[in-house]
Amino acid sequence: MAPALLGPNEPPPYEILNADATRPLLLVCEHASRRVPDQLHGAYPEMLLDTHYGCDIGTEPLVRQLAESLGARAVIARYSRIVIDCNRRLDDPTLLLADTDLGPVAANSDLSDAELKARVDDIYVPFHAAVARELRELSSGLSSPVYVAIHSFTPELTGSARPWDMGVMWDADPRLAQRLHESLHQEPGLLIGDNEPYSGKYAADFSVDFHAERAGLANVAIEIRQDHLRTAAGVSAWAVRLATALDELARAPDLAHPLAARPATDFEKEAGLIAAADQARVGAHEGGSRYGG
Ligand SMILES: [Zn+2]
Repeated sequence: MAPALLGPNEPPPYEILNADATRPLLLVCEHASRRVPDQLHGAYPEMLLDTHYGCDIGTEPLVRQLAESLGARAVIARYSRIVIDCNRRLDDPTLLLADTDLGPVAANSDLSDAELKARVDDIYVPFHAAVARELRELSSGLSSPVYVAIHSFTPELTGSARPWDMGVMWDADPRLAQRLHESLHQEPGLLIGDNEPYSGKYAADFSVDFHAERAGLANVAIEIRQDHLRTAAGVSAWAVRLATALDELARAPDLAHPLAARPATDFEKEAGLIAAADQARVGAHEGGSRYGG
């Protein structure tokens, strides 16, 4: 057995908001927190944790307000992406970021197999098992939930300014992303990126690919420029803007129907681990209370 990474008194790796909501829409935020497990306390410079390497600044309060306004469930990660990035495939070289433009990350270099396994088993797998479970619960025979990922991005990356206030990312299923783009783009003074500052077609956005595209769920990944989310007033303004747009758009009847799914064989390793964790949990907690609920 790999040594446990999270102690018994530490928060679970995810939190579920509005666990009783039945609206077929799930908000997911992998980069909500800058927290590191006690066992790794001091292993990462505070300065690094305060940047986008530590978390997506402003997304946690944004998702809380959005979930509330939309009456929707949300799954948010409670540990920093620097410990393990839940939005990456397990074989992605940036799953554990070992180098940044602020310097190398010693605590992510030369991990033993057991140390890596502890991060995967204690954070990555239970986070994704929770997302999969919520999606399953929000599905009914005839209708599928809509998947909305929330991220924030730095105003500048490697010397180039990123002018977009927000971006919508999409890959195989443009339905929700294009409607959201059209809707927000009409607001004067807002520059909304279409697959900018990142493209949803890159392999880096694991969660959308794995949970939404694999099942053909309507989806969008939203990226908001961090400087808009640095104050409570900024967070509230964006929460209202997004909730207003999504509340209506996500009700479009066609979004309840899956679009062509990507091949299930794309993510065999991740799917196997996540399904096994789900099974083990059902066995261990049968009839018990919801973890993190
Ligand atoms: Zn992010």
